[in-house]
Amino acid sequence: MRRSGEPEPADLDRCREEEELKADIIFRNAEIIDGTGGPRRKGDVAVTGDRITAIGDLPEMAGGREEDCSGLAVAPGFIDPHVHNDLAVFTHPDMASVVSQGVTTIINGNCGFSLAPLTAPDPVPQPLRMLFGLNAPRFSSFRAYSDRLRAEPPAVNAGCLIGHGTLRVNEVADLERAADARELRAMSRALDEALDQGGIGLSTGPFYAPARASSTDELTQMARVAQRHGKLYVTHMRDEGDRVVEALEETLEIGRVSCCGVHISHHKCAGVSNFGVSAHTLGMIDAARMTQDVGLDTTPWTASSTILNSGRHRQAQRVIVAESEPFPEHAGRDLAEVAAEWGVDLDEAVERLLPATGIFFIMDEQDVQRILRYEHTMICSDGIAGGTHPHPRVWGTFPRVLGHYARDVRLFSIEEGVRRMTSLTADRFGLKERGRLRAGHFADIVVFNPATIRERATYDAPVQAAEGIASVYVNGTAVWKDGEVTGSRPGHVLP
Ligand SMILES: [Zn+2]
Repeated sequence: MRRSGEPEPADLDRCREEEELKADIIFRNAEIIDGTGGPRRKGDVAVTGDRITAIGDLPEMAGGREEDCSGLAVAPGFIDPHVHNDLAVFTHPDMASVVSQGVTTIINGNCGFSLAPLTAPDPVPQPLRMLFGLNAPRFSSFRAYSDRLRAEPPAVNAGCLIGHGTLRVNEVADLERAADARELRAMSRALDEALDQGGIGLSTGPFYAPARASSTDELTQMARVAQRHGKLYVTHMRDEGDRVVEALEETLEIGRVSCCGVHISHHKCAGVSNFGVSAHTLGMIDAARMTQDVGLDTTPWTASSTILNSGRHRQAQRVIVAESEPFPEHAGRDLAEVAAEWGVDLDEAVERLLPATGIFFIMDEQDVQRILRYEHTMICSDGIAGGTHPHPRVWGTFPRVLGHYARDVRLFSIEEGVRRMTSLTADRFGLKERGRLRAGHFADIVVFNPATIRERATYDAPVQAAEGIASVYVNGTAVWKDGEVTGSRPGHVLP
């Protein structure tokens, strides 16, 4: 018996159909690039709430707002698997340098250094201090960090790796030696707990002083913990210069022994004497992939950037001072010029400028292109938001790949470029319902012009938003529009 006023089943069906014909936003007449690498097709994309609800020809559907995307591509928001914005998500929550490139998801905590859990007293050693400042908030557990992020979300989605270097600084009494059995147990326990609390994987950086003395065995023990959680061992390898082949062998061995998937961060072959070596390292990766889980990412530039006293200035053709605490006026100047002015050699100039970061012209264009072209390579920026004279990768990485390397140099199609910044990365890091335009997935969306997209950031003028990015949406909310951040902060903590 139906009470009066209750809808007839036929009415319910009609209401549901009408509901299905409505959306919050419809992107009309777009070139849909879905993130899989397949060819673009013309159509519409409908979004309601934080989800994509329909894709295709949707003339019957009405949007609360409609965006005419004629001549524009609509693609999944880009995913940057390698940034150092653990702190910047709080200090620069609009993430202008990130969203202006079309990036909607970032992975922090790279190169062995995560902001959480950090229990060691200040002053913490470099590069932690450069990355996270002296007065940065401290989080003794990963949960405390992600709770804060949930309470104060940034514009983008953020996942975070747990840094072995950070755990080492917390637990190892003497950083000049490998961890002893007790310290190894403490680090394993801390990693286990942080991964339980949502850490997206393990990162290591035996290249950097706090972790340089760690043995292969120590790193393997840490990888075992990550493997038990089904998560990755992500590494800034011990060496990316004269001993890059040995460092890659070590990484692959760690993966084999621990049965953990390994991921090589910002793969490069640094130093003039190592130009061309990428043909060999990619061959090694290809061979290893037959029997173990190996992935990699890279940046589309011939210059790298890290702490000024990394030793890289001795291998580089040119060095730019990015930041210097005691000499901020030298940011953006050539190290050689500063040294000449002071009448000292490069080593002495580096010492005087510390703490400082630099930009090192250290790679061969052919290696950069070879690594980019390799079908398993993801795109990363390795950037840190903020800073007055950063590496141009901070503002320009993703548009540079789609504009310069895909459209102009033709290393691959724009669709393939998008795949390397979306589905490939989402699958690798276990980011569910992101990285593809698909009904039911989160509405992380970038609208861009494939004919004009390009980076504006240069080594001389690095703080410049890219050209050709029309609008960017995170979980259905606009974060970048008309060349500006919108001020919305709809980012989720991932996974
Ligand atoms: Zn690194």
